[in-house]
Amino acid sequence: MKKIVLLGATGSIGQSTIEVVKRHPDKFRIVLASAHSRIDELLLYGDEISIDHFVITGENGANESEKTNNIHHGEDTLLSMLEEIDYDIMLNAVVGSAGLKYTVAGLKTGHSIALANKESLVMAGDIITELAGKNNCRIIPVDSEHSAIMQCLEGARDKSQVRKIILTASGGPFSNLKIEAFKNITLKDALQHPTWAMGDKITIDSATMANKGLEIIEAHHLFDVAYDEIEVLIHPQSVIHSMVEYMDGSIISQLSYPDMKLPIQYALSYPDRLDASAQNTDLAKIHQLTFYKPNFEKFPLLGLAYEVGKRGGIMSTIFNAANEAAVTLFLHDKIHFTDIPKIVEKELTVSNITSPNLDTIIEKDKEIKEKIYTNY
Ligand code: NAD
Ligand code: MG
Repeated sequence: MKKIVLLGATGSIGQSTIEVVKRHPDKFRIVLASAHSRIDELLLYGDEISIDHFVITGENGANESEKTNNIHHGEDTLLSMLEEIDYDIMLNAVVGSAGLKYTVAGLKTGHSIALANKESLVMAGDIITELAGKNNCRIIPVDSEHSAIMQCLEGARDKSQVRKIILTASGGPFSNLKIEAFKNITLKDALQHPTWAMGDKITIDSATMANKGLEIIEAHHLFDVAYDEIEVLIHPQSVIHSMVEYMDGSIISQLSYPDMKLPIQYALSYPDRLDASAQNTDLAKIHQLTFYKPNFEKFPLLGLAYEVGKRGGIMSTIFNAANEAAVTLFLHDKIHFTDIPKIVEKELTVSNITSPNLDTIIEKDKEIKEKIYTNY
């Protein structure tokens, strides 16, 4: 029985994780579930499965009856509980930079992380991978592409035999839209993802392809591959979740219908596999798998992600913070879709800070966001 801490339980990944746990009550048990708001939704899970502790990080001041019911409030409370409670693995499904401190807290206390919060690695990949190595913890990706890559690398005898990683991307809702029409994209258009149902932030990131940019940086840190050895390939069906090309030209891939419950479950059961509720992937029915190269002109955030990744230091923290702030503004209808890459690009014309520590990273994240929110 694995004891799981589930952070971001009310989100899209969080809800799918609850489904996975419900299917395997003999394998998984949630000892703590957190959410930032919507306490009622969080508590409803307690009717379906047994959960020892609930933590709400965004609303402070528990009333007396709640306290006795194992409902806790506040970020600091959560951080100290992560030091005290007994658990095997943390599934971090918090959205955005807020997830970083929990990834660090889990690793510091020697816990492996099933990581959905890719922003942690984008902001502080060097620090996190070093901490994981030092404390003998695993970072198991929940992101479907990285779960696929991990599986495609399973048979690799030696990393030097890998020629490149091929990250597939659905291309989002605008891959066939002419660049001239981008200025007319509305929030409603951008929230319609063709193949995945996800939280708002990552849905917008998929529409701008910032998500694939974040995933390039995530892959670099998870698998220790150079940026020039990571290629993005548009694959609209989202059936091949990613591939690894070896030095002899063989390409290994992992396929399934798009369903996040699969990579979530694998991250929790790793290295074992368990049966799943997902329908079998019927290749004859899918009939065709297609591929083409991404358009860097229509999706400038993709090129900018390679650039910040290669520059290293604080640059990917700035990229992530500016993107998060711009997406928040777009979600509140304060800017146009085409402003998102412009806002990010503008923040990148700064001198770098090499080898920033965690405090510098958290401070820079805050500074960039505050600046952008003040200016718009
Ligand atoms: P979501 O918006 O649906 O849910 C986010 C969760 O985080 C909620 O439970 C919310 O209460 C919590 N949260 C929000 N702000 C917080 C804060 N400041 N502190 C603590 N908790 C906070 O997001 P999602 O789509 O489930 O995505 C979660 C993470 O997983 C993101 O990093 C995303 O990139 C990644 N991811 C998501 C998918 C997907 O299919 N949704 C796929 C791959 C990776
Ligand atoms: Mg992904």
